[in-house]
Amino acid sequence: MESPGVPSRAAGQPRNVFTVDLEEWFHVCGVGGALAPGNWDRLPSRVERTTRVLLDLLSDVGVPATFFAVGWVAERHPGLIARIRDAGHDVGSHGYAHQRAYDLGPDAFRADLRASVKALETAGVDRVSAFRAPEWSVNERSLWALPILVEEGFTLDASMAPLRIVGDLAYPRAPHVRVTAAGQLVELPPLVADRFGQVMPMGWGWGLRMSSPRRVIRVIEAANRSGIPAVLTVHPWELDDDPPRVRLPLRLHFAHYFRLAGFRERLHEVLRSVPFARTSAALQGAIRLEPIR
Ligand SMILES: [Zn+2]
Repeated sequence: MESPGVPSRAAGQPRNVFTVDLEEWFHVCGVGGALAPGNWDRLPSRVERTTRVLLDLLSDVGVPATFFAVGWVAERHPGLIARIRDAGHDVGSHGYAHQRAYDLGPDAFRADLRASVKALETAGVDRVSAFRAPEWSVNERSLWALPILVEEGFTLDASMAPLRIVGDLAYPRAPHVRVTAAGQLVELPPLVADRFGQVMPMGWGWGLRMSSPRRVIRVIEAANRSGIPAVLTVHPWELDDDPPRVRLPLRLHFAHYFRLAGFRERLHEVLRSVPFARTSAALQGAIRLEPIR
């Protein structure tokens, strides 16, 4: 075991991690109305078309990804899951019904998790061991989710964002081990950056779409110099050339529609400029034993 807080140098320069939250454009947490779960089957599906765009892009740059798939999507698009696996990518769970962990509570969270695993197994995924909660919703309101994940056979969680609105600024920015009552779990945080006295989501969402590829690459390289693999995350709907427009509360509207134009090209430039590896390979020698509050 390496010393606490000191990354192993044996693995050389860290390689980075690319992840995808595989969901439909209408999988938006906490909104009712037209996008309420009861209406999902009546809304136009875009996930096959937009994921194909993403798979082509990843194939072009030779980047392996971990797709955190919504079980509801896997159930309706098993062929898409097969295509993702045939392309050599890993598949984990993004829950079954795309609900926030703290909205579900422990029992419903476990049931939703099991339903997602069942849907993924039915779609041909052998062993589901990686999880990301919708909207980074494992935080101080839902730390009970971590031992449940261990009990259900998961070894990796990527749900805790070191960011104020959806997570906590105090959360570590490097991959680390979380010790729970049920055993250990590797926690894989998404890339953030300090800008203008604030912490912003440099590796995902509006922060990744807003920033120039050069700036994103610089932040990734700085993380790598500190021994930290950067974790990037996108959604297929961010690569939609004609996304369905719906009325959303301001914060969600920004998160969903801000600067989609040209994102595919900016992402392409980032992906071909820094080294990526499968999540398991990128984590070798990069997991820290951080003291957790
Ligand atoms: Zn999601």
